[in-house]
Amino acid sequence: MRFIADMMLGRLARWLRLYGHDTLYGIEDDDEIVHVALRDNRIILTRDSGLAERARRLGAKVFLLSSNSLEGQVEELKRLGIEFKELFPANARCPKCNGPIRRASKEEVKDRVSPTVYEKYDEFYTCENCGQIYWPGRQWEEMVKIDRKLRLGKPEKGGSKRKSLSR
Ligand SMILES: [Zn+2]
Repeated sequence: MRFIADMMLGRLARWLRLYGHDTLYGIEDDDEIVHVALRDNRIILTRDSGLAERARRLGAKVFLLSSNSLEGQVEELKRLGIEFKELFPANARCPKCNGPIRRASKEEVKDRVSPTVYEKYDEFYTCENCGQIYWPGRQWEEMVKIDRKLRLGKPEKGGSKRKSLSR
């Protein structure tokens, strides 16, 4: 199952990639999103009911989400049968570009990370598309925390405080 997320769902798109779900993101034009979804057999992820309706009429498959939090959106996708099993599995995609990620050797990344990082870590990954290097540093620890919340947690209830501030 492959996805294409609309411009409102950038954070969700990055997290889907980290869990190994092939997810296109970055196309601004709705017609183009529908076109690519049909062409590549991708499911459209959107919170826009107008886009959802139009896409369905043209024969595209759509998951219309209603939550505006990442946690809530992940819960909705779980209910639709999408699995969030493991962060950074062997088939993980690059959160930046959706390219495939593979394990990289220490020598390989030597000139592409800072000397401190090179000294401190032994585990590196690289995106085969954009060349971004990943390692289990501070950012990774943050991701693991969010991962725990996404896989085990329930969506935030209420959120009334935030709602009153937003509009
Ligand atoms: Zn990449």
